[in-house]
Amino acid sequence: MHLPDNSFVSATQKKPDVWQNTSDLGGHIHLVPRKTDFTRPQYIGIAFLVLIVIGIALYAQTLIREEQRDELRELLAKGNYLVSLISLHPTEDFNGDKRDFFLRTVTQYTTYEGLVYFFVHNDSGYPIVSLTPSDLAAQIPSQIETASLNAMGLTKNTFHVDVSETPIYEFAKPIFENGKKTGTVRLGLKPSTVSLFSFQRMRFLGMIAFFISAIILLLYYGITVTLRPLKRLEQDFKKTCTDLTTASPGAPASGDGIGSTIKALEQSLTQVKQKLTKIEEDNVELASKLGVITFEKNQIVNILDAIKFGVIITDIQDNISYINNYMLKLLKKNSNEVIGRPFGEIIAHDKITSFISQQGVGKQNPTTGRIEIAIPDLAPGETFRVTHAYLQDGEKTLIGKMISIQNITSEKLAEINKHEFIAHVAHELKTPLTTIKSYNEMLMDGEVQDHETQKEFYNTINEETDRLTRLIQDLLNMSKIELGALTIEKGLVKTDSLIGDCVAAIEVPAQKKHIAIEKILPDNFPTLLGDKELLKVAIINLLNNAVKYTPEEGKITLSLKDQDQMVVFDVVDTGYGISKEDLRHIFKRSFRSRDPHVAEQSGTGLGLAITAEIIRLHGGRIKVQSELRQGSHFRIGIPKQEFYLGKQ
Ligand code: ADP
Repeated sequence: MHLPDNSFVSATQKKPDVWQNTSDLGGHIHLVPRKTDFTRPQYIGIAFLVLIVIGIALYAQTLIREEQRDELRELLAKGNYLVSLISLHPTEDFNGDKRDFFLRTVTQYTTYEGLVYFFVHNDSGYPIVSLTPSDLAAQIPSQIETASLNAMGLTKNTFHVDVSETPIYEFAKPIFENGKKTGTVRLGLKPSTVSLFSFQRMRFLGMIAFFISAIILLLYYGITVTLRPLKRLEQDFKKTCTDLTTASPGAPASGDGIGSTIKALEQSLTQVKQKLTKIEEDNVELASKLGVITFEKNQIVNILDAIKFGVIITDIQDNISYINNYMLKLLKKNSNEVIGRPFGEIIAHDKITSFISQQGVGKQNPTTGRIEIAIPDLAPGETFRVTHAYLQDGEKTLIGKMISIQNITSEKLAEINKHEFIAHVAHELKTPLTTIKSYNEMLMDGEVQDHETQKEFYNTINEETDRLTRLIQDLLNMSKIELGALTIEKGLVKTDSLIGDCVAAIEVPAQKKHIAIEKILPDNFPTLLGDKELLKVAIINLLNNAVKYTPEEGKITLSLKDQDQMVVFDVVDTGYGISKEDLRHIFKRSFRSRDPHVAEQSGTGLGLAITAEIIRLHGGRIKVQSELRQGSHFRIGIPKQEFYLGKQ
């Protein structure tokens, strides 16, 4: 920045008052002339005063004009009245005694300054009365005089005399006596000068000035009081700027007056802009959060609608605010009929409503509760579990409840079946044990002496022990299946040996029932890759069932063939057969037909479920064909896997 030489001052010199410093971004100190004239408020004050003076002058001018108009109106009325009054008198009245009366009347009605002249002329135009206090009669324009003297009615003329700007008004009226004009009355009047500085006006203007001054003073005081906090702010701002300038040479310097105000404004605007940007960013963030919340809410609603139990959400007054699809189907209603309605009105079930309204009331931290009930109105014969949980907001304030209604009929049935199964298995275990114990006691006590009978007893003990072993093995296998722990240990299985072992296991019970066992076997037995022990369990289960559910003198056929890369085992019996209804359930765990022929036989209902699982583990298939009283045909197919000797 270039300045005249005499404006440079050393940084250490004391600067003259007429300079003020500024600093640019580089922190350099510059000196610029201080504006010493008037500050903005002073300008405003002066302009305000000028406006007041102009206002008063205009007002005074208007007053004067008004006064002049009034004066003129009065003068015209007075002039007309006087000449009209005087012209009523005959000319002879203006001589002798009455002359003074007329002159007094004229002077009474007029002022000394206002009366220019008063003439009464005879019919020849000669003045018989003459009053000219201003002595201006000689200056009356002749045409005015002539017009007035010759007038036949009330006339009014205006003229100026050289010495005065003020117009002179002449009033003239002829005097008539007996219908003949005998003279003329002429009166010259001039309006008095209206002075701006009359005493009354000055007093009036003075009052106005006083009031205006008082108002200005009050305004000034008011503005000063109002601006005081702003001034304080400005001072604080200046101080901050000074501190900043001291602390940071690059910061803008504080200054007085408009400059600093603009800077302060700039700073405020920047702050406002920053705040607006922040609000905008917050809004964007809020909008995206809202989007996420809406998305999550929709997801939750979708999940709740997809789940296979009823969900109802109520507000704190137990009015329904949400209900899922499952529950709507159960109620056979649509959501419009339910939303906003009281819970008790929609689920009119005393036990549920009292459970919902009582649960958790008065508890410090109410959470959950559950009951198991039947709802015959909605689903006869089914059992439901009603669960209840309180919903709380972030401040742990209760905002509503969530009620779930779950159909647990099958769960309940399974539970009952489980209990029945345990009781049945206990019975199945107890029966052979009782037989073994009693036979054993008789043998030990020496009650049976006959060798053949002893042998028979030992056989029975042996058979019952096998039954027990199979039963326990079935339980163990089923437990493994349920745990997913039943695995197969594959090896080469020679099917001739497999068939031999299986048939041997049922020969004795079959003989007891005189059931014939026919075997249809190939010349070349195929070899399998599988778990021989488990395959034995599977085939023996089928053969055992055939024995159990075939009446005496019946027949069992066991055949084996190699067919389409499968080793196929067929077990056909001439037994009681299986009903169509039972056929759908026989592979389910612990299912036993209610057919009395089945019920009289011992069994746990585990055999076919275990068999099916073993075949599945071998990648095979099990099928059944049966008709009541027509016997049954079970077929197992195990795929023949490729294997190579020496590579296993
Ligand atoms: P369990 O024989 O111990 O009852 P299973 O699982 O082996 O259990 O058999 C289930 C049911 O299938 C039997 O209770 C019976 O009702 C039916 N079943 C199985 N095999 C035969 C069959 N050969 N003839 C008639 N019914 C059978």
